[in-house]
Amino acid sequence: MRTAMWLAGAEVGGTGAPLTVRNPATEETLAEVPSASPEQVDTAVGAASGAAHAWRRLPAGERGELLHGVAAWLEAHTAELAQLLTREGGKPYVENRDEVGWTANAFTYYAELGRHERGRVIPSLEEGQLSLVLKEPVGVVAAIVPWNYPLLLLAWKLAPALAAGNTVVVKPSPYTPLSTLAMAEAFARFPPGVVNLVTGGAEVGEALVVHGGTDLVAFTGSVATGQRIGALCAERVKRTHLELGGKDAFIVCDDVDLEVAVPGAAWAAYLNAGQVCTSAERFYVLEPVFDEFVDRLVEETGRLRLGDPLAETTDVGPMVAEVQRAKVERQLAEARRGGARVLAGGDRGGFERGWFLAPTVVVEVDDGMELMSTETFGPVAPVARVGSLDEAIARANALPYGLGANVYTTRLDNVLRCMEELQAGTVWFNDPLTDNDAGPFGGMKMSGNTRELGVEGLEAFRETKHVHLDGRANRKPWWYPYGPGGYQ
Ligand code: NAD
Repeated sequence: MRTAMWLAGAEVGGTGAPLTVRNPATEETLAEVPSASPEQVDTAVGAASGAAHAWRRLPAGERGELLHGVAAWLEAHTAELAQLLTREGGKPYVENRDEVGWTANAFTYYAELGRHERGRVIPSLEEGQLSLVLKEPVGVVAAIVPWNYPLLLLAWKLAPALAAGNTVVVKPSPYTPLSTLAMAEAFARFPPGVVNLVTGGAEVGEALVVHGGTDLVAFTGSVATGQRIGALCAERVKRTHLELGGKDAFIVCDDVDLEVAVPGAAWAAYLNAGQVCTSAERFYVLEPVFDEFVDRLVEETGRLRLGDPLAETTDVGPMVAEVQRAKVERQLAEARRGGARVLAGGDRGGFERGWFLAPTVVVEVDDGMELMSTETFGPVAPVARVGSLDEAIARANALPYGLGANVYTTRLDNVLRCMEELQAGTVWFNDPLTDNDAGPFGGMKMSGNTRELGVEGLEAFRETKHVHLDGRANRKPWWYPYGPGGYQ
């Protein structure tokens, strides 16, 4: 198991404070991973700066070939990476195999997209001139990522950043550094310094944010951390990409087939133990189908198998850490005190070790409860009754978050209304949480200020330069002198 960082094309052991990485299913220590010292952060940024010029000048096709190589390496190492992701993050093995596949797809997508164009020609003002809009790399990117999809969210930054010609310093979450460090091997063919992997917690992340050598901070994580990073970067006029948390609404209309909508709802709420940034976190179900929806959801939830995430038959694994579970349990307790009723789950599923929380259905919730108004990030489905689609849309839009939203309906008029009116970066109809490499992903309002994936995801890592060129190189009539009798 690799615990060394990857700096300037070589393995380097961290000399900062060690991080203890634990298996969320057993609470056992998996590894002690030394963090980067402040000097090593400096070395990493220096290596990325040193590699920047040659990397941006490399033909895009050659950069693309190297990115295809990363995708091939990921595919060849799927099983071992999925194991490692499961052991350090607690997500079921089957979901982690998917994560590695999606990670490879993102590298493949940007390997190709990066060589399609690098700007455009715009109409010039006069005959004999040429005007270009050139797209250039921004420079050195600090990529700071969370633990819930360690490799996928890394790829959504790293692949487009590299394809656009930037060099990168990556910092994984202190909960899940091992799968990222394992990827060093995939970058061995890159020129030294183009990709650097450093370990550590908030202090290492912040050292990258404030470092004078980083030009752009690409961050995925909580709103609170995003606000702090945003403020630090604003002082320095440094570019930021903030992909933050949400509180996604899931609307169920009264025209749907509950046979399909209910399993879809359960999956959207409990996937990765509800620790997906676009997890369905509050359900608004129309009155005519509310009772049946709840009955079926309780039944579906009771059938799910909570347990060892390495076992093939496990549907829901543990949460990543004690502190994350404690936050969800606090929200549940507050909701119960406020009159909410727990109809399924609500406990630790009989596990004494491991950070398990049983998939949970809660009703009689109101929008003032924390469970309905702030990110839960756990396997909980709070379900509210609504009298109309208007009410569902208004309640969905009432929060300051706008990451994703789900709607189950087959009526065209409902689709058109929700599509236009829901304030969310992604709106899924009848197929929750499906991402598409070509489809921009990100949040509105406090959920973020950028988009990953798609053409927008590449654009986010490019600087724009307008080049105005006059092939005639002639004297212009509007230059000095202005009036008659000038220096001529
Ligand atoms: P977090 O904000 O605690 O940490 C994210 C990363 O930032 C970690 O690597 C952490 O070490 C680092 N960090 C912490 N403080 C820092 C600081 N002051 N300066 C620089 N770096 C710092 O988030 P988390 O608990 O790891 O992740 C869960 C959160 O991420 C949830 O809120 C979730 O919604 C969000 N998320 C968003 C998306 C998205 O695409 N919008 C995707 C996944 C997760």
